[in-house]
This record gives sequence, structure tokens and C-alpha cells, in this order.
Amino acid sequence: MNINDTHSTSTTQDSSRPQAVTGADAGEARKPCRTLRTALAAVARTVAGLLTFGAMAAPAGATTASYALSYQSLTSSSNVVMRWNPCQASIAYRVNLAQAASTSTGRAAALKDVKGAIARLSTATGIHYRYLGTTTRIPTGVDWWRNTGDAELIVAWVNQSSSAYRTSLLLRDSRGWLSGTAGWQSWRWGAFNGQPAGAAIVRGYVVLNAAQRSQYAAGFGAGRTRGELLIHELGHTVGLNHVSPTSQIMYPYMIKRSSANYASGDRAGLAKVGRPAGCISIPAWSGAPKDL
Ligand SMILES: [Zn+2]
Repeated sequence: MNINDTHSTSTTQDSSRPQAVTGADAGEARKPCRTLRTALAAVARTVAGLLTFGAMAAPAGATTASYALSYQSLTSSSNVVMRWNPCQASIAYRVNLAQAASTSTGRAAALKDVKGAIARLSTATGIHYRYLGTTTRIPTGVDWWRNTGDAELIVAWVNQSSSAYRTSLLLRDSRGWLSGTAGWQSWRWGAFNGQPAGAAIVRGYVVLNAAQRSQYAAGFGAGRTRGELLIHELGHTVGLNHVSPTSQIMYPYMIKRSSANYASGDRAGLAKVGRPAGCISIPAWSGAPKDL
């Protein structure tokens, strides 16, 4: 997401890079947008699982629909909507506030906005979230999802001019680094022992560009706000992609709004990835990273 009040229809996306990551085969790790491998019929492969870095289905631009979901193929004829198991006890999250503000008061305000954004996401999806505290971790690299510790979701302010706070996950366009980037990691398994094939998001991140924090206001009020940025990026972490209508939070740019809240299309999309869409049973044998 980027700051832009001209309602540009740039094709920049900040959801994540189209690339796939397999669980164990490093040689495959950087092939672009790889979908299903051929071996789902073989138990040995299905048990190994297959991981896909977020937003394989993300359009280059934004759709004109009021919401856009991500999909993953299970077989040549079967796609599923990418989403977390909305019935897991909770999604445990931590926040890296070190670069969020220069004072402890400012960092506390930033944390309050993260919690406020999570609350809005939870209301719209029916998914429960659990705040575990702050973290010093910065999500980075293709293996970021292996390094989230006891959290399933990390929200971190990053600083690309500081080696201690830099990330490879923040995207940039022709004008420079974006305001924020978010992504998810899914796990996929094949049919086995009478259980159907499936897939679910199991980890997520949001990285926010600290260099731009002075360009939007705290809270969820009028204008360009931190709240708008947060609920947009969090929308990506549950599988939503960009859309073109400026009325929707999943519009790719920060614009001056009367307040920062998910709009009707956003909420319709969030319901499609949330509790109303039903539970996903992630088999223990799939080797998926656990619900922490
Ligand atoms: Zn975005």
C-alpha cells in the first residue's frame, strides 16, 4: 500500500511477491508462482505438504469487484479459497514497535492502533486473535514463516536504512518503498485416509515502512491514517487482494477517508475467508506449522 491521493490506478501490488516455496526442496524455492506439483496422489508427497508464499493469485492490478480472494489449486480441477482455519482457538500475534515511534508514548499509541485494527478484522471475520506482546523479530526472507517464534502473525515497523530493522519483504514501486506490505504462508495437503485434500494459511506478516510514519495520522479518524494502513495490510494477511473501488479499504493506496473502517465489499470478502465460510480441519499428519 502506498501514499497517493490522486486515486491512481497503478498496477503496483503490495500484498506479496508471486513466488512459491516448497517445504524442503531449496532448488524449487524461487520458481515464480508455481502451483500444484504432480505428486498429490502419492501419500509420501502429500504428507510432506507443500507451502506457497502468499498471493499467487494476486492480480497485477486490482479487480473492479468489491473484494478479491486468493485461490490455490488442490488438483487440476479443484481450487480453494486461501484462508486461515477460522475456527482455530486464536491467531497469536506479536508486534515489533521499535521503529513505530520515537517515544514510548508514541509506541504505545501505535500498539493501540494495531490492537484496534485487529479488533476490526476479528469482528469482520469472526476469527479470534490473541496478543502475546512485543517482539524484536523483523519478518524477512523467503523463510520468514519459519522464524515467527511463538507468534503466527507478526506486525513490524521496519526501517530500510537500518541494517537492524531492514526487511526483504517490503516492496517498492517506481517512487520508492511502499508504506506497507503484507503476506501469508499456506500449507497444502492431499487426500489421505478418507480425509479430503485441503489448504490453509498458517502464518502471516505485516511490515510497515517507518520512514513514512509522519505522513499519516494516528488512529482511525479522518484523513490518511495509520488505522487505514493497518486494516488494509491485515486484510492481506487473511487472503484478500486489491480492488479498484476507492471506497474499499483494499484499494491499493492510502487516501484521505472520513474514517478508517472496512467497507461493505471488504466485509463481504472478510466473511468469505472467515468463520461464516466454515472450519478447515488441518490434519496433524500434514506437518503443517501448528496453531500456536
Ligand atoms: Zn495492499
